[in-house]
Amino acid sequence: KARNGHEPEFIQAVQEVAETVIPYIAKHKIYNGKNILLRMVEPERLLSFRVAWVDDDGEIHVNRGYRIQMNSAIGPYKGGLRFHPTVNASILKFLAFEQVFKNSLTTLPMGGGKGGSDFDPKGKSDDEVMRFCHAFMLELNRHIGPNTDVPAGDIGVGAREIGFLFGMYKKIRNEFTGVLTGKGRSWGGSLIRPEATGYGTVYFAESMMKTRDMDFKGKDVVISGSGNVAQFAAEKALHLGARVLTLSDSQGYIHDADGIDEEKLAYVMDLKNNKRGRISEYADKYTSATFHKGETPWTVKCDIALPCATQNELDGDDAKALVKNGCICVAEGANMPSTPEAIHEFEKAKILFAPGKASNAGGVATSGLEMSQNSLRISWTREEVDERLKNIMEDIHDSCIEYGKEEDGYCNYVKGANIAGFVKVADAMLAQGVI
Ligand code: NDP
Repeated sequence: KARNGHEPEFIQAVQEVAETVIPYIAKHKIYNGKNILLRMVEPERLLSFRVAWVDDDGEIHVNRGYRIQMNSAIGPYKGGLRFHPTVNASILKFLAFEQVFKNSLTTLPMGGGKGGSDFDPKGKSDDEVMRFCHAFMLELNRHIGPNTDVPAGDIGVGAREIGFLFGMYKKIRNEFTGVLTGKGRSWGGSLIRPEATGYGTVYFAESMMKTRDMDFKGKDVVISGSGNVAQFAAEKALHLGARVLTLSDSQGYIHDADGIDEEKLAYVMDLKNNKRGRISEYADKYTSATFHKGETPWTVKCDIALPCATQNELDGDDAKALVKNGCICVAEGANMPSTPEAIHEFEKAKILFAPGKASNAGGVATSGLEMSQNSLRISWTREEVDERLKNIMEDIHDSCIEYGKEEDGYCNYVKGANIAGFVKVADAMLAQGVI
């Protein structure tokens, strides 16, 4: 805390892990006296750099670029790039720290990293986004590589940005390698990668529901966000027979009492991905929907809640409202969307609750599968990748049960995910000595 006190999101993420892992370390002799957690919270490398670029009117702008290389004990650094005005070292360190545990849980050999910039792609032309991405990669290329560090997308970094970043990397290095994941299909991308985080979150929630002999059929689902993760979480929930009631963005949420069906979801995908519009426009188009400006959707009655927008978007009062309205399962599609107070409420009510590092790991897992396909220079079918994704989510669920089951039979998925993620990385660090 003394060293990182000015970084609240990072402290929050570390605290959550420490609360569950420290008692485990105390009970297991091999980890005693090795200061493993102290080593894990210090990034192996933290890069910060200037990104200067020129807008369409010829004006020069300066943004700050980052790459946090957090832990490489079990594989090359792996984790997304976020372009959003709120990006700072604290947010990226929390994301990089979470990523270490998440990547460990996937069973694939990937270390943890994260990066990005305070650049805001909203309202920028395609040319401006391209010039920014090219300028960003001019520096980042020195620090990454298919065996060193393999970035991917996150908030504000989708297929368009990955294309521009990859193009510049390839030009500078004169090599075509799997240095980024989330690539387009025709140039090394994996089938199912766009869907993977959202689908994986729903697969995980399905496994949780199964432990109580329940499934998605006929259930009411409330989702926040309307970006990559939210869109495909909604799609998979619909496939499984649920009714999706809400979506949101940073301006508010829409509530469609009739449910967002496949046709309406296709409208949202076009609105968000191609037209780069606002979710409020949904309520202009569909009379069954209402728009709630500046609010989050957690007061809408539901069986299942999937927070898929951003960190700390669901607080203690929201959690109380969900529990009171009969919600039985919360699976995080976003990273750390629930505050510690919210998690406490879910655990107190003994409802099913999955932390993002377990339930949203399907995205990075499929990125791992993209890396394998790039190395082997082959590409698996949609069914093959989806099957592997499903299996990985089930394996993560099993690991959470193994380490998180409590005496009364309740599974504390937060504890389970933290300890299962910790053990693999800690064992590798012990084997590699003090470095
Ligand atoms: P997108 O940029 O595609 O979408 C983000 C969504 O969240 C948008 O609807 C956005 O609204 C909303 N949002 C962003 N910031 C805020 C905010 N401060 N308050 C309210 N809403 C906000 O990102 P993704 O869908 O890829 O990412 C969503 C979450 O999932 C993030 O936490 C990310 O770290 C996590 N995640 C993503 C993975 C992936 O594979 N993409 C993998 C694992 C985790 P608006 O359009 O108004 O900005």
